[in-house]
Amino acid sequence: MRKPIIVGNWKMNKTIAEAVDFISAVDPYLDGVDTADFGVATSYLALENSIKNAKNLIIAAENCHFADNGAYTGEVSVPMLEEIGLKWCIVGHSERREMFGDTDETVNKKVKKLIEAGMTPIMCCGESLETFDAGKTEEWVRGQIAAGLDGVSGKDVAKMVIAYEPIWAIGTGKSATKEIAQDTCAIVRDQVKKMYGEEVAESVRIQYGGSVKPDNIATYMAEKDIDGALIGGASLKVDSFKAIIDAVK
Ligand code: 13P
Repeated sequence: MRKPIIVGNWKMNKTIAEAVDFISAVDPYLDGVDTADFGVATSYLALENSIKNAKNLIIAAENCHFADNGAYTGEVSVPMLEEIGLKWCIVGHSERREMFGDTDETVNKKVKKLIEAGMTPIMCCGESLETFDAGKTEEWVRGQIAAGLDGVSGKDVAKMVIAYEPIWAIGTGKSATKEIAQDTCAIVRDQVKKMYGEEVAESVRIQYGGSVKPDNIATYMAEKDIDGALIGGASLKVDSFKAIIDAVK
């Protein structure tokens, strides 16, 4: 039985003070909740204070670099994240792929680096509207999973989280239907099965992301291959996040 996992991806939102305020309001709400994992991904700057203030919430970074150090102006390495006690990191979000040059190859290097450091990657995949309209979602997503996990052991993949986020549903208010979300999450699981076998495929947790809100999250969570959600906009407000917790726990 896979434990549900809900992560808010705050993107470039919330100062350190705002992050700490949110965590102080939400974290105690999770006291005694052990039926699902809940977390937030914050800016690099807010991570350390967020970790210090969170007892229940998972705190994740939104990105990392694959090199330990070097001439990469503006980047943050995994050892730097390790030093502040970080255990989770999103990699390959479509916004990073579209705006900041992440590729399947760099995503794969980041996944490996995080695993080497004992952290858990939340690896994102998902197709553009053009790919969706062309009926090529399956081929695209299988390719992203195959490339992103290349060279990663089954034992490590089993502990990972993979987020399927159709780009056309991100921040648009146009969420995928539960059927589309389920079908593609099933494809992701099948690709993991092809690469690593049944046991690993049944262990890996798969999230849907794209305009998930308090009033639609339960619909997604009821689907067989959807184990959680990666949530942007609706994760930013305390009331909305609490409503999401209520709908899932
Ligand atoms: P929205 O929930 O705002 O559509 O964002 C989804 C997302 O990109 C989470 O990573």
